[in-house]
Amino acid sequence: MSTLRLEVVTPEKKVFEQDVNMVVARGVEGELGIMPNHVPLVTPLKIAPVKAKVGNSETFIAVHGGFMEVRKDKVVILAEAAELGADIDLSRARLAKERAERRLAQKQSDINARRAELALHRALNRINAAGEKE
Ligand code: ATP
Repeated sequence: MSTLRLEVVTPEKKVFEQDVNMVVARGVEGELGIMPNHVPLVTPLKIAPVKAKVGNSETFIAVHGGFMEVRKDKVVILAEAAELGADIDLSRARLAKERAERRLAQKQSDINARRAELALHRALNRINAAGEKE
């Protein structure tokens, strides 16, 4: 089966770099399944797990927004933060979720509410990606 190279990079580090058979990511306009020789594209990503398939196995990476660039045989994801499902600290994510929910319940300014909403999305993304780990 042919492969393409998936790289997930944050300002801190390279989170993932491997040859995979398929990448499934949530772009702002919907879910994208990328296989080798996909047409080139650049899209902003939602805060959502990215799935990398190699044979029958799947790796989940929590990707917190950013961009995906697809070239012939390469997918590069640049994100503010990203973690492999297996590296996620689930109790930290649960605490972040509770904190964000509390802040949202407190009806603060719009800016703080938006920040809490984004923090809640990140926490849920981590909880989802961690739950999918093998
Ligand atoms: P918290 O409130 O728990 O810090 P956050 O959403 O504010 O969460 P970020 O600013 O998105 O955290 O990330 C800061 C750094 O911490 C990044 O390097 C990110 O990968 C890492 N990180 C955040 N939460 C977790 C987690 N639950 N498990 C592993 N790494 C995490």
